[in-house]
Amino acid sequence: MSVSHEPAGVPALNLKAQYQSIRDEIETVVLNLLESQMFVLGPEVAGLEAEVAAYCGAGHGVGCASGSDALLLPLMAMDVGPGDEVITTPYTFFATAGAIWRTGARPVFVDIEPDTFNIDPHLIEAAITGRTRAIIPVHLYGQAADMDPIRELAASRGIAVVEDAAQAIGAAYRGVRAGTLGDAAAFSFYPSKNLGGFGDGGMMTTDDPALARRLARLRVHGMEPRYHHHEVGFNSRLDALQAAVLRVKLRHLDAWTALRREVADRYRSLFASHGLEEVVAVPHERPGNYHVYNQFVIRVPAVLRDGLREMLATRKIGTDVYYPIPLHLQTCFESLGHRPGDFPHAEAAARETIALPMYPELTEVEQRHVVGSIRQFLAGYASSSMTTDRAA
Ligand SMILES: *Cc1c(COP(=O)(O)O)cnc(C)c1O
Repeated sequence: MSVSHEPAGVPALNLKAQYQSIRDEIETVVLNLLESQMFVLGPEVAGLEAEVAAYCGAGHGVGCASGSDALLLPLMAMDVGPGDEVITTPYTFFATAGAIWRTGARPVFVDIEPDTFNIDPHLIEAAITGRTRAIIPVHLYGQAADMDPIRELAASRGIAVVEDAAQAIGAAYRGVRAGTLGDAAAFSFYPSKNLGGFGDGGMMTTDDPALARRLARLRVHGMEPRYHHHEVGFNSRLDALQAAVLRVKLRHLDAWTALRREVADRYRSLFASHGLEEVVAVPHERPGNYHVYNQFVIRVPAVLRDGLREMLATRKIGTDVYYPIPLHLQTCFESLGHRPGDFPHAEAAARETIALPMYPELTEVEQRHVVGSIRQFLAGYASSSMTTDRAA
């Protein structure tokens, strides 16, 4: 491989490049907002709610302070609480299980599919009890979970489905966008998400008008109208500043998603052209899924993973591990009584995955540098002696 202009480094995420490309549009709406001095909820938030709902094809959008709250509020609105159980995956960001715990309910984990990293629908039925109130599938890295069997099972047992779509705005499953694949969905506008604000923010979508109204009430201390409190909620309002910025960015989202998908295709062909498929498993995009690549996550044999990351770091190539400790093994969930080995696919993923640099503006030169560096690192190892969980 000949690289004429080797980049000085490749960050895992490059928010400055995105900002540069829309700076004028952003400055206009931010300055308008400063003139209005209306900082919390208000018309910008209502506008974003309508636009995100329309984008997903959902009846209603309700803004809130974070993706974490966007998971907690629907559970509260469904009256999930102590004595209840909620099924989810152990291989996700902490907030998914944290929201369940905060209601007083018990998180019940179900292992993942080794190829998509999403909850394995075939293992869910065995985890259902008389106390199961909801299932939270996570569309991890931007690829929808296998929703049809999950919804069928949930419907037959009278269990709610709340999508954790924090990483998956714009993703589709059999032609239907995330946000309309369950009873309610949670989105995050954390800056690293595909639609990222200038701070924290979140959104819930649902087709159920009564649920939407209750969510909108719960995010303002259960208040409706002013100073009349029907139930105890909390403060989870969305800032107008975030909404104004996000409305600008939403207009670019499909173009950015298309670029993310091109970046993913380029990674795939680069790994293939280097003959690395034996050692490096690239993401599997399941037929029927439209993956939006919030992350491009490869798997390598566990013995090589950390060494490879260190070597890439010396070349200023940014990588991350989402997530190094599966949730059933977190200290705060010790009382659930789990042990290593309980969810072998999640545990293997935690040892073998690396998220490579991924953002719409990533260039082919940068990608060649990333893949070329990985090839150099792996050149010294015999692939035959190394396996990942991919074929399990
Ligand atoms: C980011 C994320 C969340 C939480 O969103 P915040 O806005 O950071 O609170 C929840 N679940 C998943 C899968 C996420 O990636």
